[in-house]
Amino acid sequence: MGKMIFFWFRRDLRLDDNVGLANALQTGLPVQPLFIFDKNILDKLENREDRRVAFIHHSLKKLNLELIEKGGGLLVKHGTPQLVWEELLENHEVEAVYTNHDYEPYAIKRDEQIRQFLSAKGVRVETFKDQVVFEKLEVAKDDGKPYTVFTPYSRKWKDLYARSGASVMPVKINSFDNLQKRNAEEIITLAELGFEEVSGGFPSLEWDPSLVKQYSDQRDYPAVNGTSKLGVHLRFGTVGIRRLVASAGVLNGTFLNELIWREFYQMILWNFPQVGLGKSFKPAYDFIPWRNDEKDFEKWCLGKTGYPIVDAGMRELNATGYMHNRVRMIVASFLTKHLLIDWRWGEAYFAGTLLDFDLAANNGGWQWAAGSGCDAAPYFRVFNPKLQTEKFDAKLEYIRKWVPELNSFDYPAPMVVHELARKRCLETYASVLGKQD
Ligand code: FAD
Repeated sequence: MGKMIFFWFRRDLRLDDNVGLANALQTGLPVQPLFIFDKNILDKLENREDRRVAFIHHSLKKLNLELIEKGGGLLVKHGTPQLVWEELLENHEVEAVYTNHDYEPYAIKRDEQIRQFLSAKGVRVETFKDQVVFEKLEVAKDDGKPYTVFTPYSRKWKDLYARSGASVMPVKINSFDNLQKRNAEEIITLAELGFEEVSGGFPSLEWDPSLVKQYSDQRDYPAVNGTSKLGVHLRFGTVGIRRLVASAGVLNGTFLNELIWREFYQMILWNFPQVGLGKSFKPAYDFIPWRNDEKDFEKWCLGKTGYPIVDAGMRELNATGYMHNRVRMIVASFLTKHLLIDWRWGEAYFAGTLLDFDLAANNGGWQWAAGSGCDAAPYFRVFNPKLQTEKFDAKLEYIRKWVPELNSFDYPAPMVVHELARKRCLETYASVLGKQD
C-alpha cells in the first residue's frame, strides 16, 4: 500500500466548492474521504429521533453515491475521533490529513488533540477556511481587534469582499481522478448508530430567486414562505457559502446582511469563546437573579403560555424543528424578560430541537434577546407579544395554524400579565445593571 491522504468531512458535506477537498485532490496522492460519527457528541443526545443526526446521515448517503459515481466512496466511522484515528493509522500509510476549519470550542479542542496525535506519528495536517467567506480576524477593526458591533463589521466585510477577487470565489475541483479507488459500499445505518429515521423530510437545497428578491419585504411575516430555509444546509455545509453569496447575495441586500450576521456570530465565537461556554458576552448580566421557575419553563416549552404568538412558535419548533426568525426573537424575549428565565435554558432547549441549530448563531440570538450579547437590544426594550402579532401576523394566519383551539375554553389564559411582567423584568435587570446598559 502506498502513501495516501484522508480528507476529513465535518460541517462541509458537499463535493462542490469544498476548499479542503479540492486541495487534497490537487496533491496527486490517493485521497480517501472520511466522516466520523463522533461518540463524544452522539452519546450526549437524548432523543433517538434526532433530526440533525438523521440529516447528516441522509447527506452522507448522498455524498457516498456521488463519490461512488466518481470511482471512490466515503468511509464512515463511528467512535471517538481519537480511537478512530488510531485505528486508521494502524491500517493505512497516511501521508497527510486534510480538513476544513471549525470554530466551536469543542471542535477546536478536538482538532488540536488530533493534530498533536497525528503530528507525533509523522502525519502532516493541513486545514482550510471553508464554511465562511471571512474568518477569525480577517474582518477586524483598524487596530486589529475584533468588532463587537454588527454594522461597522458588515461595512468592512463588504469592502473586503469587493476587493478580494478570486479568493472569495467558489473553488473548482477539476478532477476526481485521485480519489482512492473503492468497491461500492453502503455506509453505516442510522439504526446501527442507535438512531431512528424522522418524518417530515428536510428543507430543499434549491432556493428560489424570486423569494430571495422579495426577501426584505417578506422575511418578517411568519405566515408567509418568505425565507430561504437554508439554515440546516449552511450548518452542515450541504450548500457552500461562497456560491450562495455570489448568487443569492447579489439579489437582495438584506439577505446578504443575514449571511453576514452568520459570519459575525462565528467571528464572535472564535474571538470570545467564553460565550459558547455559558458566559454572557457582557459579564454584568451573569448576576441577574433569574426566577428560573421550572413550571413556567415547561409551559413555554410546550407552547401553553396563553400568549398565542409565543405558543405558535414553540409548537412549530416542537413539530418541525424549525421556527421563523421573527418568532424566535419573540419567544426568546418572552422567556428571558416576561418569565425571567435564564437565557441558557432557552438556548439549550433550542439546541436540542432546532434542525438548523448552530452554536454561534443560537448563542448570538439568545444573548441578543436577553440583552447580554454583543450588539444586543438594550434590556429595557421588552417585546410586546400583542403588538408583535398586530404587526407581523395581523390576520392570525400563523397563529391559527399552530394554535387551532385559540378561541375555545381549551386555550389557557395568559400565564403572566404583560405590563406586570414588563415592570418586574425592568426592576430585576436594573437591580444589577442600573438604569443604563
Ligand atoms: P433566512 O432568513 O433565509 O437567512 C439565510 C441564512 O442566513 C440563514 O439560514 C442563516 O444561516 C443566516 N442567518 C439569518 N439570520 C441570522 C441571524 N440572525 N444570525 C445568524 N445567522 C443568520 N440561526 C441558525 O442558523 N441556527 C440557530 O441555532 C439559530 N438560533 C437562533 C436563536 C434565536 C433566539 C434567534 C433570535 C435566532 C436564531 N438563529 C439561528 C437566526 C435565524 O433565526 C435563523 O438563521 C433563520 O430563522 C433560519 O431560517 P432561514 O434558513 O429561512 O433563514
